[in-house]
Amino acid sequence: MFDFSGKTAIVTGAASGIGEAIALELAASGAHVIVSDLDADHCDQVVATILDRGGKATAFAADVADPAAMEALVACAESETGALHLAVNNAGIGGVQAPTGEYPLDAWHKVINVNLNGVFYGMRYQIPAMERAGGGAIVNMASILGSVGFANSSAYVASKHALLGLTKTAAMEYAAKGIRVNSVGPAFIATPLLTNNLSQDMLDGLAGLHPIGRIGTPEEVSALTCFLLSERASFITGSYHLVDGGYTAP
Ligand code: NAP
Repeated sequence: MFDFSGKTAIVTGAASGIGEAIALELAASGAHVIVSDLDADHCDQVVATILDRGGKATAFAADVADPAAMEALVACAESETGALHLAVNNAGIGGVQAPTGEYPLDAWHKVINVNLNGVFYGMRYQIPAMERAGGGAIVNMASILGSVGFANSSAYVASKHALLGLTKTAAMEYAAKGIRVNSVGPAFIATPLLTNNLSQDMLDGLAGLHPIGRIGTPEEVSALTCFLLSERASFITGSYHLVDGGYTAP
C-alpha cells in the first residue's frame, strides 16, 4: 500500500505487539528497518522474519530510557544505510496500577522515563539525523490515554498526555525543515502488554468499552502509523490521530 523504498526507519519497542507490526509493514513496503528493543534475541527474531520475507532490517538492542543508547541507535541507522528518514517512538510500558495518592514513586519515575523521556531522547538524536537527510517523518506512540483519564494509571496517563505536547512542539519547530511529527492514539489493542496481564473476562470487558465491539489489532495501528509516515500524509504534522474503535467518541 505504501512505498518506503530507499528510506531508513527506526522503530523502538519493535520486538512485540504494535512495534513489531509496524516494523513488518514498513519493511514489506520497502524500508530498511532498524529493529530496536530491550532484548537482542527478540530484535534478531523480528529481523529474521523480515529477511525471510525479502526485506531489509538491522537489529539494535537499546533501552529508550538511556540517551546514550538512543544516540547510538541513530548512529547505527546512519552507518548501516547512510541516512535516517523515518522513526516510530513506540516503546512503552503500562506501569503499576494504583490510585494517585498511593502511586509508588519509583514506579512513577520508571513510566515517565520510558514513555516520555524515552521519546524525547529518541527525537533528540533522530531530528538532527533527519535534518542531515534533508527531511523525515516521526510518529510518537501515545494512546487514547493521551486525551482522557483512566483510574489507577496516573503515570501512564500523564506520560501519554505529555507526549502530545512534545509532539506538537517538535512539529512546529521542524515543519519548515521538512520534518513532520505526529502522534497516534490507539485504544485497547491485542498485544502482549494486554494479553499477558489480563484475564479473558477482563479482555471481554474492555472490548465492551469500544463502540465497535472489540479491541483492536496491532495491524490496525500500523496502518495509521505507516500512512502518517508516508508521503500521502505530506500536509499532516503536529496532530494526534486516534485509532480507537470509537472509544473516545461518547
Ligand atoms: P508490548 O507488546 O509490550 O511491546 C512493547 C515493546 O517495548 C516490548 O518488546 C518491550 O520489551 C519494549 N520495551 C519496554 N520498555 C522498553 C525500553 N525501556 N526500551 C526499549 N524497549 C522497551 O506493548 P504494545 O501494546 O505493543 O505497546 C506499544 C506502544 O503502544 C506503547 O507505547 C504503549 O503505551 C502503546 N499503546 C498500547 C496499547 C495497547 O492496548 N496495547 C494501547 C495504547 C497505546 P519487553 O517486553 O522486554 O518489556
